[in-house]
Amino acid sequence: MSGFAALNMQEQGTAARPRLLVIDDEAGIRTLVRRVGRQAGFEVQEAGAAVELRASLQQAQDVIALDLAMPDIDGIEVIRELAHAGCKARLILISGFDRRVLDTAARLAAGLGLNLRGALPKPFSVTDLLALLRAEQQAPGGSIARLEVTAGELRRALDAGELVVHFQPQVEFADGSWRGVEALVRWQHPRHGLIQPAAFIPLAQTEEFAIPVTQRVLELALAGYSDLLDTAGFDGALAINIPGSALSDVHFPEHVVERIAARGIAHRHMVFEVTETSLANQPTVAADILARLRIKGFNLSIDDFGTGYSSLESLHRLPFTELKIDMQFVQAAETDGVARAIVENSIELAKQLGMKVIAEGVQTAGQWRWLKARGCHLAQGYLVSRPLPAADLRAWGGAWRPPANE
Ligand code: C2E
Ligand code: MG
Ligand code: MG
Repeated sequence: MSGFAALNMQEQGTAARPRLLVIDDEAGIRTLVRRVGRQAGFEVQEAGAAVELRASLQQAQDVIALDLAMPDIDGIEVIRELAHAGCKARLILISGFDRRVLDTAARLAAGLGLNLRGALPKPFSVTDLLALLRAEQQAPGGSIARLEVTAGELRRALDAGELVVHFQPQVEFADGSWRGVEALVRWQHPRHGLIQPAAFIPLAQTEEFAIPVTQRVLELALAGYSDLLDTAGFDGALAINIPGSALSDVHFPEHVVERIAARGIAHRHMVFEVTETSLANQPTVAADILARLRIKGFNLSIDDFGTGYSSLESLHRLPFTELKIDMQFVQAAETDGVARAIVENSIELAKQLGMKVIAEGVQTAGQWRWLKARGCHLAQGYLVSRPLPAADLRAWGGAWRPPANE
């Protein structure tokens, strides 16, 4: 770490703007990131090659843009050091290497508990960088990195009814028709505004909260969904995320059946999404519960497919009816041959197993056309719509048109 000597403070403004630290040995890139960062509303600091990492970490940073290749210390070492220091900043990785190096570093950072937000392959466009930094600047409260969500606050939020559910539509590639919605939780915080799940889902999935939060989300999702059925001329599926930690109570299926019966919703309309990673701790009980949910006629979706350690084993072991291809593969497919092969083979695999296959994170018409040509069934992503409150979905449903074939 000795190479990290002098942190080059470009700006020492005292304004309450969020702080961005750019660590890159190329002065040109630092200048570019500084310019774009300021445009996005950040106070920017720069660190060149020979800088003292610890010095830069003495000040809380909101966002760190890190180049993986530097002369005296490589980005992987920096990632380890950041993790060791318990760094809370949101991390954006930059690299001129092969996409797979970037992806490996990204997985490492996420695995070490860093708040990884994005990875930019060099050369990147100013537009991409600006979009990424603006999104970070506008992330809930812009100061989410400093918002420590405590168990006491989450308990209070549950009591005060501050959790809300938004819905993201899922449509069919073949004709653009609206087939389902995924319920996604948010926290309407009285001071911090709308907080995205990344800030509190880790806490919400701990033993104390997993079941009460999941039950609350189920209740809110069923209420919003009933509204949609009544008013939006919609009769598709409702997908709900279930953390593995909520699958520890063998009575969970009965609870679910009771709540769904109270709303008069057909079981075949419900989809429970689980990630294979979240099943790692309780494999037997979870398998018992998932099998019983399936027997009761509910659908089961394997979420973020391809990102866990045992995707294929989970697929083999558990009665999934739907496969959701993780957005990192969907979004990289255009430029990265490995991601392309993963997406193509996931679609094929799902079809051979008689499962529905859905692509997450579809953002461009190009991605839409490519996935459609490969026979993917369903699309979910910002191209179709961002997650919206139930009341706004009616208007969306009226306005939505799929991209034209080229
Ligand atoms: P997920 O289940 O994989 O949900 C999809 C996430 O991708 C959502 O993020 C959605 O807003 C985002 N997304 C969808 N399309 C696009 C796109 O085109 N581009 C980009 N960049 N993002 C897109 P969100 O709502 O922030 O949720 C993040 C994760 O938090 C979810 O991932 C899920 O794992 C977890 N989560 C959300 N709601 C719940 C919940 O009620 N219970 C549990 N246990 N977990 C939840
Ligand atoms: Mg999901
Ligand atoms: Mg997912």
